[in-house]
Amino acid sequence: MDLKLWTEELRQLVNVDCGTATISGVAQVAETLAALWKKEGWHCENVDLGAAVGPGLLVTNKLQSEHYDVLLIGHLDTVFPAGTVAQRPMSQDDARIYGPGTSDMKSGLLNILWAMRGMDKSDLQRLSIAVAMNPDEETGSVHSHRWLGDLAKRSRQVLVCEAARADGSLVNARKGLAGYALTFTGVAAHAGNDPEKGRSAITALAHSILAINALADAERGTTLNVGVVNGGDAANIVAPWASAVVDLRFWENSEDERVHRALLEMCEKGFMEGVTTTITRLNHKPAMAISAQTEALMRLVEQAGERENVKISWKAVGGGSDANYTAALGVPTLDGFGPIGAGFHSPAEYLEIASVEPRIRLLRRVVSML
Ligand SMILES: [Zn+2]
Repeated sequence: MDLKLWTEELRQLVNVDCGTATISGVAQVAETLAALWKKEGWHCENVDLGAAVGPGLLVTNKLQSEHYDVLLIGHLDTVFPAGTVAQRPMSQDDARIYGPGTSDMKSGLLNILWAMRGMDKSDLQRLSIAVAMNPDEETGSVHSHRWLGDLAKRSRQVLVCEAARADGSLVNARKGLAGYALTFTGVAAHAGNDPEKGRSAITALAHSILAINALADAERGTTLNVGVVNGGDAANIVAPWASAVVDLRFWENSEDERVHRALLEMCEKGFMEGVTTTITRLNHKPAMAISAQTEALMRLVEQAGERENVKISWKAVGGGSDANYTAALGVPTLDGFGPIGAGFHSPAEYLEIASVEPRIRLLRRVVSML
C-alpha cells in the first residue's frame, strides 16, 4: 500500500479542529471523507442530527439498501477544543504518528476507506455495506445513537473501528455505565438553639453513601462510585440540602437493571426521616456483552487473522464506545478494527505506523468472509 498517500490523507483529517462542539470542523471532516468515498464510487449522504452537533455521514456501496451485511462505525469528532491543531498539528517519527485524534479515531475512519478500496469487485457486488460516521461520540452519542441503532438493526453485524489496544488486542466487551444525580432536601435549623427542629440533608447523604456502596458486586464487576458530594450552608446550620453524583459501571445489563431499580427504591423510601431524596439518571450506556452470535463473529475474525498473519487477541475494557449501543440491541458487534494506538484524549496520543497496513488487510479480509 501507499503509506505516504495514507499519511497525507490522515493529515487532512487530523489537522482540523473538530471537537464535538466545533461543528464546522466536524462538518469539514465529513466533507473531506465524503469526497474520498465518492471518488471510489460509493454513495454518500449527510445526515442531519440536529443543530447541536455536526452532520452524520452515511456511506453505502449499494444505493437504497434496506439491509446491510455489515455496518462499519466510526466517529468524526475528537475531545479537543478549538486551537489544539495550531498548538500541536500532526507529526511523526519513525514508528509513530501523533496529533489530536490520530488514533481516536481518524486513522480508524481512514482504514475503513482503505480496506474497502482494495476489496474484490465480486465481494463488493455480493455484499451490502454501510459505513456510518457520527459527529458526537465523544460526548456520549446523545444525538446519534438512535440513528446508529436504526442502522444496526438493519445489519447482520457491526464492526466498530476504534483503535486496537496498545498490545494489538481487539475489543469484544465493554462495560456499560450510568450516571446519577441525587438531591437531598432537609430542614434548616439553628445548630445551637434548636437542632432538634432541623433535619440534616448531610446526615441523610452520609447514610446514602454506604447504602449505595453496598449495591456493588465485585465478583460481577459492578462498581458504584459516589464521586462528588456537596451540601450545607454553614457549620452552625443544620444542613437543609445536599447533593451527590454517582457513577455506575457494569459488565452485565441485568446488573444495570438491578442497581437502577434498587437506587430508585432507596431514594423513594429515603435515607432518613424528614429528608426527601430525588434521583435523576444523567446518562446511560448499556454494556457491550458477548453473545453466542458475537462468539461466532470472533471465530471468523480469528480465521481472517490467520489468513492475513495478524495475531488476534481479545480484550474486555472498561470504557464505552458506540459498540455498546449496537451490541445491546442484540446485533453482534466487535470493536478495535483501527490501527494500534493509545494515549487517547491526551497529548500523548499516538498510532503505530507499522500496524496500519496489516489492520487494513485484516478488516478487508473479515468483511470479505462475511
Ligand atoms: Zn475518544
